[in-house]
Amino acid sequence: MTDPSLVEAAEATLRPLTYARNVAWWESQVDATGENERRRAETELAYSDALADRELFAAIEKVRSADGDPLVRRRLDLLHDLMLPHQIADSLRARIVELEAAVEGRYSRHRGVVRGEEVDDNEIKRILRESDDPAERQEAWRASKTVGAAVADDVRELARLRNEAARSLGHRDWFALSLATDELDESKLLETLAVADRATAEAFARWKQALDARLSERFGCHPGELRPWHYADPFFQDAPAEGSVDLDPLFQGRDLVALARRTFDGVELDVDGILARSDLFPRAGKCQHAFCMDVDRDGDVRVLANVTDNHDWMGTMLHELGHGVYDLGFDLELPWLLRDTHLVATEASALLFGALAGGREWLERVLELGASDAAALEDRLQAARAAQLLVFTRWVLVMNDFERQLYADPEADLDSAWWELVSRHQLVTPPEGRRAPDWAAKIHVAVAPVYYHTYLYGAIVASQLRDALRDAAGGLVDRPEAGRLLVDRLFAPGQSIRWDRLIEQATGSPLSVEPLAREVAAA
Ligand SMILES: [Zn+2]
Repeated sequence: MTDPSLVEAAEATLRPLTYARNVAWWESQVDATGENERRRAETELAYSDALADRELFAAIEKVRSADGDPLVRRRLDLLHDLMLPHQIADSLRARIVELEAAVEGRYSRHRGVVRGEEVDDNEIKRILRESDDPAERQEAWRASKTVGAAVADDVRELARLRNEAARSLGHRDWFALSLATDELDESKLLETLAVADRATAEAFARWKQALDARLSERFGCHPGELRPWHYADPFFQDAPAEGSVDLDPLFQGRDLVALARRTFDGVELDVDGILARSDLFPRAGKCQHAFCMDVDRDGDVRVLANVTDNHDWMGTMLHELGHGVYDLGFDLELPWLLRDTHLVATEASALLFGALAGGREWLERVLELGASDAAALEDRLQAARAAQLLVFTRWVLVMNDFERQLYADPEADLDSAWWELVSRHQLVTPPEGRRAPDWAAKIHVAVAPVYYHTYLYGAIVASQLRDALRDAAGGLVDRPEAGRLLVDRLFAPGQSIRWDRLIEQATGSPLSVEPLAREVAAA
């Protein structure tokens, strides 16, 4: 019999440390002062030290395989996966943490140079979106890659250290360890990515051929002369806005927070508490992005955003609240460790709600756009969404293949490997004779390793949920039954069920690329 006292003792230790870490993190994001930064580092260290506790980990390993209450067993499994990556030599753990922090600092301080002036990422992206001057575009694109050369040696060293850590724990490399502690089966992941590759290859090639025709006209060159800087962002990871639908005018002067509240009211999910605790508008000294945080797994859920009256921020608000209603939906009878979610499941909920503001039904019912105006937009909205899914899926294939190769052999010719993958999956022609660590310019490779598949899985599950809600409730917008379904089948169980079985329970079928493949066919 498994004795619940061990897991309860572990929860009693981790719960206050997690709460302190969350509060400190929130404070450091809403007000970036030195004092808040110091508190954040301090609480992070205390949390990480608790996860490194060898005695506790050994005790968990010992009782984990005994039979007993399945929910106790589930908590032990989650604790095991949470603690395993921290069970390495203290000196190695310290080196990894220090090098990660140093590299992250270099990414945020580094600035590329365009026309003799230092520019930030936003300016580089603006040039790639707007400039019609190929020379300026090329300079901006090259500037976006200079950070790669500055950090590449350190990123390679991080890969070596992470591999050393993974091998000391009996895993092949860091790639394998990351998947194992995230309840992902490597062969299943590769199979799913192969299916996603086959499902998007043809539609993407067709869509990109049309894009290249437009771009070669715009830049006055032959399609064969297009290079990476002719696309609208440094990695070609987003579909270009041109040729798609500009919804921004519909949001000017509108109250986006009220529209978000109205959206969730329509499915009878209450977001008033979240909105009251949130920090929603731009201000100096505050994080420029957006996120949702479950501070205490007991109802204190908050969103940080920088809402401006445009379509992007409408989608972002719905996305973050899609995370928020998930956190509020956990069955409060569950023990603390289980009042949590796998990242794939919560990302799916966020993507499902986030996409609403780009759909006809939401524009008609919530934004109260005239029915004929909404109908006129419908085909283009669907095509824009399909293009975004296509471009994103191809980009995830590059990232996943690359990281698998990086951890398989950090000493390999990674510069060539990167461009081989970019040409194969994204159909982008590399610049002639390019020899540079362009892979290291992508910050995720350094600081959020082996994570990108989570986004794609989230998108796949969101498509499955959309289908399931359509069949069961006729859709999501203004359908309380759909809201109840999400709570009962997806949110309430928390982590009491393994994520892949939870998805199956919520959507009626195991993880399947099929609904996503149908959506991208509209491109
Ligand atoms: Zn998200």
